[in-house]
Amino acid sequence: LVAGLDAYKQRDAMTPDGRRVALHVNTGLMADVARAKDRGAEGVGLYRSEIPFMLRERFPGEEEQRQIYRQQLEAFAPRPVTMRTLDIGGDKDLPYFPIEEDNPALGWRGIRITLDHPEIFMVQVRAMLKAASGLNNLQILLPMVTTVSEVEDAVALIHRAVAELQEENEFEVTLPRIGVMIEVPATIIQIADLARHADFVSIGSNDLTQYLLAVDRNNARVAGLYSQYHPAVLRAVRYVVSEVHRAGKTVSICGEMAGDPGTAILLMAMGFDMLSMSASNLLKVRKTICHVPMERAEALLNRVLAFDKPETVRAEVEAELSELG
Ligand code: PEP
Ligand code: MG
Repeated sequence: LVAGLDAYKQRDAMTPDGRRVALHVNTGLMADVARAKDRGAEGVGLYRSEIPFMLRERFPGEEEQRQIYRQQLEAFAPRPVTMRTLDIGGDKDLPYFPIEEDNPALGWRGIRITLDHPEIFMVQVRAMLKAASGLNNLQILLPMVTTVSEVEDAVALIHRAVAELQEENEFEVTLPRIGVMIEVPATIIQIADLARHADFVSIGSNDLTQYLLAVDRNNARVAGLYSQYHPAVLRAVRYVVSEVHRAGKTVSICGEMAGDPGTAILLMAMGFDMLSMSASNLLKVRKTICHVPMERAEALLNRVLAFDKPETVRAEVEAELSELG
């Protein structure tokens, strides 16, 4: 399935039986943008805003951030760009904001940090809103959410930033759609509550797999246990899709699970509204979708959801893909 990928640059991701799947990219730097557009990305499903922060020696100010975000938003307009607020802590270090903890994966990270430092959050959100002025293709995504209150607090700050900027009257700003990342297992159990407080939901399957399986995503010694084909991961993800749709909201996925052709067809069968992946996987996944009828993908999903081991799931998926050629 990896041969002749260039032919898929301008194709729609459409199954042979006519189902379209929206494919977006994950970005962080402007270098990602040209590649993504060349490969026909329909938007940005995850802009990792911490990446430009990691390349600097101090926190970028509001105007510097505005310019960085403007480039991303402009490059993709009118296509949507989902900007995640600063996701540092855990495995993502800022040299000028050291965090010393015994257990960083369970510590101060993502939205926990920015809600404790609303001044950092507000500068970033103001910069994003200003950057989107006149383009209106911004969506804001909140990382590492654990509780409904975190969402309420973040949403209140975003509303405040909009009100401030409208008062200042220098940039024309509108309220963006606001989404919640599903990375912490508790948010799966409370998915209906969270969906009520958000405009959309995006599954961060890298962290979700780590926390669901209690396996460090960066530890080679336990890498054999880290699998997105794990039945618990698949069933959890499918549950999220059905609950978010039941709440009438949209659901996407932006972890590596979307960029693997095998898991991507399972995700497609689950009914995700959009899959977001690194640009390097985009053509491979689009080609796979163009070769797998939705009916086959749904039947495959139903079969593997009954399996009890990652290895058997993976083997079944690989057998199906090689049969479809
Ligand atoms: C994820 O956790 O799946 C995700 C998309 O975020 P990151 O990889 O940046 O932690
Ligand atoms: Mg994550």
